[in-house]
Amino acid sequence: LEALDVEAIREEFPILEREFDDQQVVYLDNAATTQTPDPVVDAMSDYYRRYNSNVHRGIHHLSQEASEAYEEAHDRVAEFIGASGGREEVIFTKNTTESENLLAYSWGLNELGPEDEVVLTEMEHHASLVTWQQIAMRTGASVEYIRVDEEGRLDMDHAEELITDETALVSAVHVSNTLGTVNPVSELTDLAHEHDALSFIDGAQAVPNQPVDVEEIDADFYAFSGHKMAGPTGIGVLYGKKELLEAMEPYLYGGGMIRKVTFEESTWGDLPWKFEPGTPPIAEAVGLHAAVDWLEEIGMDRIREHEQDLARYAYERLEDEGDVEIYGPEPGPDRGGLVSFNLENVHAHDLTSIMNDHTIAVRAGDHCTQPLHDKLGVPASTRASFYVYNTREEVDKLVAALDDARQLFA
Ligand code: PMP
Repeated sequence: LEALDVEAIREEFPILEREFDDQQVVYLDNAATTQTPDPVVDAMSDYYRRYNSNVHRGIHHLSQEASEAYEEAHDRVAEFIGASGGREEVIFTKNTTESENLLAYSWGLNELGPEDEVVLTEMEHHASLVTWQQIAMRTGASVEYIRVDEEGRLDMDHAEELITDETALVSAVHVSNTLGTVNPVSELTDLAHEHDALSFIDGAQAVPNQPVDVEEIDADFYAFSGHKMAGPTGIGVLYGKKELLEAMEPYLYGGGMIRKVTFEESTWGDLPWKFEPGTPPIAEAVGLHAAVDWLEEIGMDRIREHEQDLARYAYERLEDEGDVEIYGPEPGPDRGGLVSFNLENVHAHDLTSIMNDHTIAVRAGDHCTQPLHDKLGVPASTRASFYVYNTREEVDKLVAALDDARQLFA
C-alpha cells in the first residue's frame, strides 16, 4: 500500500495548527473524538447556507433538497459498511450509546425473559455493559462475560463455553477502546448463530479505523458514531438486518415515523424512518456523508496501516522506557491504533496533566471500562490514540514528556 501523504492531510485540519503556550497541539485523543476536515465542515456549512429545511418530504424545494440529502446519507453509509439492504438497514441515532440503547429497549425489553442470557465481554464499553445490566434487571435475563486473557485478548474457549442455547444475544466490542484489541467478531457471530442467538457488534473504534463489512461479519446489529470518524458529533448509526428491524418495535414515538394515526392507535412507517421520530440530525447526516466520502478517498486499508504503524512505534518506544506498563496485545494484526499505559509511580491523571503542559492531548481515566480496569488492577490509565493525521514525531513528543513526569512525581 502507498503511504499516506500526512502533510497534505493535515492541511485540511486547521485545528492541528493551534498553539497553546507557543507549542503546537499534538492531538492524540482520537478514540474520544476525531478532528473534522474542511470538506466535512464545508458540507455542513453549505447545508445551512443553501438548503437548511426540515425533512420528511416537504412539498417545497428546500425541503425536497434537505430530504434527499438526508436520505442519501443513509444510502452512502449503507454502502460504506457493506449493508446490501441500503437505507432500510441504516438507522441514524445520536451516537453509539443511543444505538445500543435503541436495540436494548426495542428488542431487549420486549424479547428477553428470565430464561435468557446475554453474553458480553469483559472489555465492553459502559455503553453496552451498563445498558444490558439494566435490561437484564428489568427482564430477569442474566448477563455473562467472556474472559479477557493475560495478553488482552478474548478467551475464545471461554466464549464457546458461555455461548449456549440459553444465549439470546452476544454483544461484543469490535475494537477495544482501552486495550486496542481487534476482536474476532465473525467467530463470535458464528458462535451466536450456531445457538440461534443474535449478535450485536460495537464498532465505535472499528469503523473509523479499518475496513468494515457488516455482511462479511454477518452481524445482526452493528453500531458506530460519526464523531470518531472525521464526522460531526450528534449522529450515530445502528445497522440492523432488515427482517430483524422490521420485526422490532420502535422505542421512541412521535412525528415522521408513523403510517396512520387515529385517536385510538397508530401504525408505523417504513424502515428506517420508523426508528427516527422527530426532526433528525440533518446537517450531521450531510457531514457524515462527506466524512465517509473523505475517508474512502484516502482508503480504509491505508488508514489502518498508518495507525497500526504508529501504534507499533508508540508501543515499542514506550516499552523501551522500562518503567511503562502497557495494556493490551503486542503490536500485530489484531491491535488497532491506540495504546493505553501507566508510568510507574505516577497517577494517570498527573501524567496526562503533564502531557497537557506540553500541549499533548491524551486521555486519562477508565475510558468507560471500569470493570476492565479493576481486572487490570489499576484505577486509570493514560491513552494515546492515533488517526490519519498523526505522525511519529508526535509520538516522540509524547515519550519525551515522560521525563518531566518522572522528575515531578516519581
Ligand atoms: N463503544 C466504544 C468502544 C467506544 O469507544 C465509545 C466511545 N468512547 C462508545 C461505545 C460510545 O460512543 P459515543 O460516546 O459516541 O456514544
